[in-house]
Amino acid sequence: MPPRAYAPPRVSPPALRSGILTGALAVGGMWGAQVRSDSTVAGVFAGGAHLTGLLAGYGVLVMLFLMARVPAVEHGVGADRLARLHSLGGRYVLSLCGAHALLALCGYAAHTGTGLPHAALDLLGYPGLAAATAGTALLVAAGVTSVRAVRRRLAHETWRAVHLLTYLGAALAFAHQLAGPDVAASALTGWLWAMAHAAVAVLLCWYRLVVPVRQALRHSLRVIEVRDEGPGVVSVVMRGTGLDQLRAEPGQFFRWRFLRRRLWRTALPFSLSAPVRDDTMRITVKAAGDHTRRMRRLRPGTRVLATGPFGALTAHRRTRRKVLLLAGGVGITPMRALFETLPGGPGDLTLLYRATSAEHLVLRTELEAIAARRGAGLHYLLGASGAAFDPLAPQALRSLVPGLAEHDVYLCGPPGMSAAARAALVRAGVPEERVHAEDFAF
Ligand SMILES: Cc1cc2nc3c(=O)[nH]c(=O)nc-3n(C[C@H](O)[C@H](O)[C@H](O)COP(=O)(O)OP(=O)(O)OC[C@H]3O[C@@H](n4cnc5c(N)ncnc54)[C@H](O)[C@@H]3O)c2cc1C
Repeated sequence: MPPRAYAPPRVSPPALRSGILTGALAVGGMWGAQVRSDSTVAGVFAGGAHLTGLLAGYGVLVMLFLMARVPAVEHGVGADRLARLHSLGGRYVLSLCGAHALLALCGYAAHTGTGLPHAALDLLGYPGLAAATAGTALLVAAGVTSVRAVRRRLAHETWRAVHLLTYLGAALAFAHQLAGPDVAASALTGWLWAMAHAAVAVLLCWYRLVVPVRQALRHSLRVIEVRDEGPGVVSVVMRGTGLDQLRAEPGQFFRWRFLRRRLWRTALPFSLSAPVRDDTMRITVKAAGDHTRRMRRLRPGTRVLATGPFGALTAHRRTRRKVLLLAGGVGITPMRALFETLPGGPGDLTLLYRATSAEHLVLRTELEAIAARRGAGLHYLLGASGAAFDPLAPQALRSLVPGLAEHDVYLCGPPGMSAAARAALVRAGVPEERVHAEDFAF
């Protein structure tokens, strides 16, 4: 009997959402089991403060879990979707923190019969409350620096440093929760709360610290070649040992840290632009900013730390025999790897590659060789975006890909192009759930 193909465990997006919601309901239940019936104004405020505080604490835990890089979650949900969920969840957590602080303040003011400013000063004098306020301020700082307009103005490293401080913020908030009346109400709730936090802390340490160090030591990756692919685009080929143990799938990406001056401080995400083979990995990189511009000057022998694989844009999402791969610009990289490896006979695969002009097409020779070898369709959709003829319009897509509505579609490109292509595909009859997309942005 042939050996069974390795199928890594994956958590689906609905399962993740259900898990998060179930946890929130359990937290609500924990509050309901303990809340004292008190219909005074102060009592109502206090009840609301406790509920919002518990939910905010749970929300912080979920935020940390989403970013723990647990492979089953990363491979099932996808890093881009996780980042979107994290960003949406972050807004809920900050709103809950704000509501908790306000309700607690109003409750205290009503209970003591003082004005709000006086009540605020009083509360800050309580042990642990100043620390909890500092923790909340760190969470707010992470939220503010993540607002698109602010983030655009910040270096990625600055944004990341502020985000790293949220671990301290979460620890301060956790100490506040343990001291509060809800978690400490019974030994069981205290124990469960502490265990849930310990489990997430272990996952964070394991997947964000231990695994990257172990991968760096085990695979000894070095650059062996840097080659020009087109205007501002280079491929970087790396060799290491035991790379098959990484079980990287075509369509996935790693976070790469190149150990040379002015590059080593940041780990950049890039997709594999070819399947891993003969202990080599390849990425293809477009110069988008300072770091990617410097990659052109990488020298053979440079050590590389790669953490991964991540991403859910892989063969496991496929539900149909026929597959359309739709790439825009440098979004061709994961598509190139999938074009070579997705199982299928002649006529089953079609690749549409959108670029401004023929000069901007990269990896063209390889794509044409794969198309010829596999009997796959390959079309270049050239022209500036906004031109009179839109090659991604529903009618144009339908005429290029007969039976389009029966296809699975894998989509990767700049955010604007991706959104337009997704809308056109749906209008052309492809059900939304069969459009599998990945954004090159978190
Ligand atoms: C999952 C994924 C796969 C990608 N695959 C490819 C690929 O195969 N080829 C390719 O050319 N590009 C790819 N990108 C895009 C690439 O990662 C960015 O262009 C690159 O990080 C920009 O770095 P920079 O410092 O030169 O540019 P900057 O001008 O500093 O940044 C440009 C953009 O990249 C973001 N960015 C910068 N550093 C990081 C980082 N460390 N982590 C996350 N985002 C960052 C910034 O927030 C900004 O939005 C991918 C991105 C993602 C998220």
